[in-house]
Amino acid sequence: MSLFANLPEVPPDPILGIASACKADSFEGKVDLSIGAYRDENGKPWILPVVSKAEKILTSNPERNHEYLPMGGLPSFTSAAARIIFGSDSKELKNKQIYSIQGLSGTGSLFVGACFLYECYDRNKTIYISDPTWTNHRSVFGLAGFKVDVYTYWDSSLKTISFEKYISSIRDAPEGSVFILHACAHNPTGSDPTKEQWQIIANEMKAKKHFPFFDSAYQGFATGDLDNDAYAIRLFASMGFEMLVAQSFAKNMGLYGERLGCLHILCKDSNSATRSGKFLEKMSRNIVSSAPRYGAEIASIILNNDELLQEWKQCLVIMSSRILEMRKALVEKLVELKTPGDWTHITRQIGMFSFTGLNTEQSTTMIEKYHVYLTKNGRISVAGLNEKNIGYVASCIDKVVR
Ligand code: PLP
Repeated sequence: MSLFANLPEVPPDPILGIASACKADSFEGKVDLSIGAYRDENGKPWILPVVSKAEKILTSNPERNHEYLPMGGLPSFTSAAARIIFGSDSKELKNKQIYSIQGLSGTGSLFVGACFLYECYDRNKTIYISDPTWTNHRSVFGLAGFKVDVYTYWDSSLKTISFEKYISSIRDAPEGSVFILHACAHNPTGSDPTKEQWQIIANEMKAKKHFPFFDSAYQGFATGDLDNDAYAIRLFASMGFEMLVAQSFAKNMGLYGERLGCLHILCKDSNSATRSGKFLEKMSRNIVSSAPRYGAEIASIILNNDELLQEWKQCLVIMSSRILEMRKALVEKLVELKTPGDWTHITRQIGMFSFTGLNTEQSTTMIEKYHVYLTKNGRISVAGLNEKNIGYVASCIDKVVR
């Protein structure tokens, strides 16, 4: 008998499991709103034109090879990525208080950061994740060996951030806890704190000496502007926090499968940043040995060329604007259908997702009866909507809530 014969069955992944079920569905009018990946107006994945340009430049370079990258990744990429997230005029960058290494997209960067905190900060601390959050947060930090708990984030009846309870969670957590903060375009709620609220969160975190670990998976998707979407990270940096930032380029460069990301550590002084950075490199060496080269080279070409950088910013505007249009159109259709309830939260929310408010039963009916695939907590990827399917999706929502 196999050593593994008695392993329990692994339940399907709450997001990828639904995407696979959609793939297997032969219904012609099926709609996939499960996965957080941008789709164009024809429902197809979009290769950013600026990425195609960079690929051409890369592949026509006779000096190109497939050698391993250094332990910390491709330096021309990691330094540019740091400028994108902290700002090219960042005082902390100038003072060399930030050390950046390449990671396996957002997830791999989070995991290396988690392992670093376990080894170098305090393995007895609790990691606080927002309730709700991206489903992988709990497992990534759990796998690194941490106890994971939640901080209150959402008021499901008002469909807004439950700010007072959020602040109480910060106050109630033991001093020096680690808080995982979504830098922008919170997944799944599509609702971020206002600038004033971020200031209060930062003050409260400072008073309790908590350690912020920012997860930036959607920079450019919340407002269409990279600088706006880095507001919270730059605010915390300016307030003297030491912190980690996991930065993904999966969504904003459309490089999902290339696994492109960065992990940054910001310390109070350059000496500690270098010391910590060397530890991050060691962790990364032990976990993945060497980061993937292809996406890093593409991004490096784009981020280090003014013209291509501007073109990339335009692509972000195209993607974020189409999502905004789809939000508006969905609400208009629901109003037209006189669907019971107030749906304005869909246009108040930002980023790739809308937390529709559909409950588990309604979401399940959407999938099983109408072939519209969304996560069971009622989250839809608005990027999956287009002119052709939006009427159908609205009519299905209308039916399940009546
Ligand atoms: N963090 C959040 C909040 C996400 O939604 C995602 C992806 O959906 C990630 C991190 C990681 O994405 P990736 O590993 O593809 O960069």
